[in-house]
Amino acid sequence: MVADSSRSDAGTAAEPADDRLLEVENLQTVFHTERETIRAVDGISFGIAEGETLGLVGESGSGKSVTARSIMGLVDSPGELLPDSSIRFDGRELTGLSETQYESVRGGGVAMVFQDPLSTLNPVYTVGNQIEEALSLHRGLSGLEATEKAIELLEDVGIPDAARRVSEYPHEFSGGMRQRAVIAMALACDPDLLICDEPTTALDVTIQAQILELLADLQEEHGLSILFITHDMGVIAEVCDRVAVMYAGEVVEQAPVVELFENPRHPYTRGLLRSIPSTQRGADRLETIEGEVPTPNAPATDCRFAPRCPEAFDACREVHPEPVPVATETADADADHTAACLLYPEDETREQAVDRHAIEDAPPGAGAVDSGGESR
Ligand code: SF4
Repeated sequence: MVADSSRSDAGTAAEPADDRLLEVENLQTVFHTERETIRAVDGISFGIAEGETLGLVGESGSGKSVTARSIMGLVDSPGELLPDSSIRFDGRELTGLSETQYESVRGGGVAMVFQDPLSTLNPVYTVGNQIEEALSLHRGLSGLEATEKAIELLEDVGIPDAARRVSEYPHEFSGGMRQRAVIAMALACDPDLLICDEPTTALDVTIQAQILELLADLQEEHGLSILFITHDMGVIAEVCDRVAVMYAGEVVEQAPVVELFENPRHPYTRGLLRSIPSTQRGADRLETIEGEVPTPNAPATDCRFAPRCPEAFDACREVHPEPVPVATETADADADHTAACLLYPEDETREQAVDRHAIEDAPPGAGAVDSGGESR
């Protein structure tokens, strides 16, 4: 699996900058149950520049979809965003907006494509009706003008004979065509940021490739920024400029896509990459990461990956790792590639690295922790 090198240039160029359309900082989304509070997203930060595609990857239960719903303002009770969370879109803080204010963001600047098009499309209305409704709500179009625009959008997403199909119902469309129709509905809102939550997971590989190609074309045509959520590293390699790897509610590694594939630093990312099916490796069995993603129900005081990590040492069970810049053979240690792991920074001894993480994470006055390992 080799990431598309043309993406490399884009990714390298997409360093933290003022042109970030979306800036998520310390996002904490929790769900209250009778017994506990689930910290589904626990203090994550990332940004997306204009025209950039950021991949959010991780296993089920890592918090990817909750992140998307948090940005879209779709977290309902018993869920909530904790007060220190910040989501800035085009310079505007979104946390704390009323539902009415959020409606102008959803379908205005930000639109979302979900995994299952059938859950997005209403079976009792024609596809055209549903696109026209979006056009009416967000662009003020109606009547013939809305119908013509709906046909144009269906043509844009590659639906053949769009003038006829605009009057058909969702069940008359194939799975791939339904997802195209959902993308057309999202485009009806003329968004700057498209959030795609596993948009190809329910499709077979041929259709998946077509939808990915369509998204790339639309991105170029409309200058879209895309947050692409998936558990599939192959899809990440195909479509993303940069990648954020999530585990148990936290971002554990971030890097430009080629850099991540060539120099994964976090043991979890390495495990994910080793579990990609390969036709070249010649192995009979896929490598897997033993165990399951834990459900975080308390603030992290350790590394949540420690029970599954082949490189864990004593301090991993006592210190919560913070994201730190990592140096690799092909990139200097800078903010473009970070990993939240006590093994880094690599140019420090293990004791120094552990102390650094402990100090960054600890409340004022807390002492250093025994690293429980040899100095490098
Ligand atoms: S902090 Fe420790 S347990 Fe966590 S990923 Fe790094 S080496 Fe593994």
